[in-house]
Amino acid sequence: MGKVIVIDPYLTKNPRTPAKYKDLKALGKVDLILVTHGHVDHITDLPELAKLTGATVVGVPDLVYNLVSLGFLDGSKTIGMNKGGTMTRLGPGIKVHIVAADHSSPLDLLAIKPDTTGVRNIAGGAPVGYVLEFESGFKIYDTGDTAVFGDMALIHRFYKPDLALVCIGGHFTMDPEHAAFAVRELIRPKQVIPQHYGTFPVINRTPAELKTALGDAPIEVLDVKPGEAVRF
Ligand SMILES: [Zn+2]
Repeated sequence: MGKVIVIDPYLTKNPRTPAKYKDLKALGKVDLILVTHGHVDHITDLPELAKLTGATVVGVPDLVYNLVSLGFLDGSKTIGMNKGGTMTRLGPGIKVHIVAADHSSPLDLLAIKPDTTGVRNIAGGAPVGYVLEFESGFKIYDTGDTAVFGDMALIHRFYKPDLALVCIGGHFTMDPEHAAFAVRELIRPKQVIPQHYGTFPVINRTPAELKTALGDAPIEVLDVKPGEAVRF
């Protein structure tokens, strides 16, 4: 079996998670958990999933070391890495690069400690995205939560991602129109999987709207539903 990488675990409280995956054990083996930032809909299941699977956790030092200090992550299995960094913890054939994102990123204590009173958000460093580079040469760029920003063009120049996972929900992140601009003009992948939409009423935009906004751009939109598998 290959390696299993989970990005931003938010399953047990996510209204769109299929029933089967409400139980974190359903994920089976997990080798690596990547965290893009500390918002509630990105880290709620991080401590439990890390404990359950023994997976290594990667995120910006400000975020993951605060989680270690507070007792939510095991310091011996946590790697703090920042924008510009590359790691090969899963072997030389799999490279994980951290790239910029334009968003906010406190550590939201309510995500991991629901009885929190008083100050809710503490320092969580900068938000990031990830580029995963596999032995086959296939590259995936996960934007994380972000607005469109000009340096997405650098991500294209450095990595030329084949597949981009792009946020389209609007309100907190890019909407379909901005995401279409980002992938058509800046990231320029062959395929796109839309993400970060439909979870809450305020981010109720759709992959169909991304397709419309892309017009005749030669980029395929894969409308993957929660729980579905895609092979490349
Ligand atoms: Zn966010």
